[in-house]
Amino acid sequence: MNTNEIRYVMNDFITQARIVLDRDIEYIYLPITINKRLKNTMGRFHFKVINGIVIPMEFQFSDKLFLNYKIEDQLQVIYHEVVHYIANIYYNKNVGHTERFKVHCRALGIDDSTHFNGVPIKGENAYKYEIHCLGCGSSIARYKRMSQVKKMDMISGMYMCKKCKSNKLTIIEY
Ligand SMILES: [Zn+2]
Ligand SMILES: [Zn+2]
Repeated sequence: MNTNEIRYVMNDFITQARIVLDRDIEYIYLPITINKRLKNTMGRFHFKVINGIVIPMEFQFSDKLFLNYKIEDQLQVIYHEVVHYIANIYYNKNVGHTERFKVHCRALGIDDSTHFNGVPIKGENAYKYEIHCLGCGSSIARYKRMSQVKKMDMISGMYMCKKCKSNKLTIIEY
């Protein structure tokens, strides 16, 4: 995604939020930057508090988010940052990752977890193999590398899905 696409996604989300929360939320015309040096976080909403009023400043995203992660993970980070924008403006303070923030996440239909749990599909930390259960379709495990023996064990019925108890598993290779 480029910054124009990110802005489009953000404002689309705000259109829905205006309906769901039934309140006037300003569309985002702030600078959006993709930052190569953003290290410990995938996204950041930068704001100031002046005389008890939250002044939105900028959104920053790590370039790695768009290079190495699935679109679902990219959207989750973008929505998460927009919820910071919506919640902090509403309360006119930094509500951080408190319950006020999480309530907003849930109301807007996004994951309220505060840690990024995306799965890299490219780059040095990428997983190459994903084990799926054919019984219930759930993803059971991911590996960066797998031996032939481990692969055989996985598909020969030695392992069981914890959710549905099926031992019919398959390996998807990326
Ligand atoms: Zn956050
Ligand atoms: Zn299963």
